Amino acid sequence: MPLSSSVDVVIIGAGAAGLGAAHALKDSGLNIILLEARDRVGGRGHTVQAAPDVIFDVGCGWLHSADQNSFVLIAEQLNFEVDRTLPPWRDRAFGEVFPERERQEFFRAIDAFYDRLGQAALRGEDCAANLYLEPDNRWNPMIDAISTYVNGCELDQVSVLDVDAYEDSGHNWRVRRGYGALIAAYGAGLPIAFNCNVALIDHSQQRLRIETSLGTLTADKVIVTVPTNLIADQAIRFFPALSAKVDAAAALPLGVDEKVTLALSGPEALPRDGNLRGATMRTAMGTYHIRPFGQPCIEGFFGGRYARELEDAGDGAIAAASIDEIVSYLGSDFRRRLTPLRESRWAHDPFARGSYSHALPGHAGKRAVLAAPVDGRLFFAGEATSPNFFSTAHGARDSGERAANEVLAVIESANR
Ligand SMILES: Cc1cc2nc3c(=O)[nH]c(=O)nc-3n(C[C@H](O)[C@H](O)[C@H](O)COP(=O)(O)OP(=O)(O)OC[C@H]3O[C@@H](n4cnc5c(N)ncnc54)[C@H](O)[C@@H]3O)c2cc1C
Repeated sequence: MPLSSSVDVVIIGAGAAGLGAAHALKDSGLNIILLEARDRVGGRGHTVQAAPDVIFDVGCGWLHSADQNSFVLIAEQLNFEVDRTLPPWRDRAFGEVFPERERQEFFRAIDAFYDRLGQAALRGEDCAANLYLEPDNRWNPMIDAISTYVNGCELDQVSVLDVDAYEDSGHNWRVRRGYGALIAAYGAGLPIAFNCNVALIDHSQQRLRIETSLGTLTADKVIVTVPTNLIADQAIRFFPALSAKVDAAAALPLGVDEKVTLALSGPEALPRDGNLRGATMRTAMGTYHIRPFGQPCIEGFFGGRYARELEDAGDGAIAAASIDEIVSYLGSDFRRRLTPLRESRWAHDPFARGSYSHALPGHAGKRAVLAAPVDGRLFFAGEATSPNFFSTAHGARDSGERAANEVLAVIESANR
């Protein structure tokens, strides 16, 4: 789409948040445009055909809190089949790798830990979550590993109040054709300028000036939806500077979570939608989804410092670590049965610089600071601004809609 030189509202970023904002504004009569640095829609939602018989979500895959998830209705409207099979991560472990008795012990330890966190949150203690681990509990490293999957970081990096604010309804569904594909379909038909990297938002004059890699345009309002690490690194800048926003974004960094999919020969021997995870007593471990949707593959998931280390080690390191770990659980026969298909590299992705946000200890209040509009002209959305569905795609989408409604409210009150 060609860049017009003047519009009413510019939306920066065509991920779930930007698309949510655009949908809420598209029938308002306002002239809007989405500016997207990539050559595709969806941001951290991205589905690929990793092999002829393997669909892989490189980013988001689960419709978390599905009974409250706005993408479920959108999936139904767009004819995307929603799969309600139970997720593999709690009750569906495979075989003897993590025996039932040990798993029950682990669940008791992690449930007790989250109870202590809940109590601390009630007391308003916004400190690091690791302080509530029971000293010397044998399961502490694995509880920390779960934090790396959920928060993208170890417990010493995340605020208790932030962990407690997240609303998990316990329902987790999937989209057979891919969550990224659903988000892309949701974006169809919207006015998007691709390969348009925004460098500067100049709000020193009455009209906003937006400097991009495709030229400069002016607007009345802007909705910024880029990931926090780009705001914190000032990859996108404001003039005059908005130090409160930069500080808030820095307090809400994106952690690291990475995924890999491995083709599996002779898949029938393993259960469909099973989980493979060992009682390894270490935090640096993967968790594996066996044959998602019955596909002939195993999907690995890595988080926190270990994920960053593997990603820094270069292409293929995540797949190699996955194969080694799976072989250690299932036997050496699996070395020849597994073939790397695709792995993510979100921390090295210039337009994400990480996976999803968490609040640093002492900074749970920064989500509201980041979300607050400035001067009735600059509005902020994106998963990190969601009060209780942060780190998710639906939280991002809903935040975009919220920011669009703020724009409409300002315009309406000015017209009154
Ligand atoms: C490995 C992984 C697994 C995940 N699993 C799940 C899951 O199972 N369920 C779930 O709900 N969520 C999951 N998430 C999180 C979810 O994907 C994100 O929270 C959500 O997609 C974020 O949407 P957003 O619109 O806030 O940001 P993004 O999707 O990051 O969109 C922001 C857009 O801004 C663009 N942009 C950046 N800088 C500029 C610039 N300067 N100029 C113009 N454009 C710019 C980016 O290219 C991007 O398209 C996962 C994420 C990862 C990485």
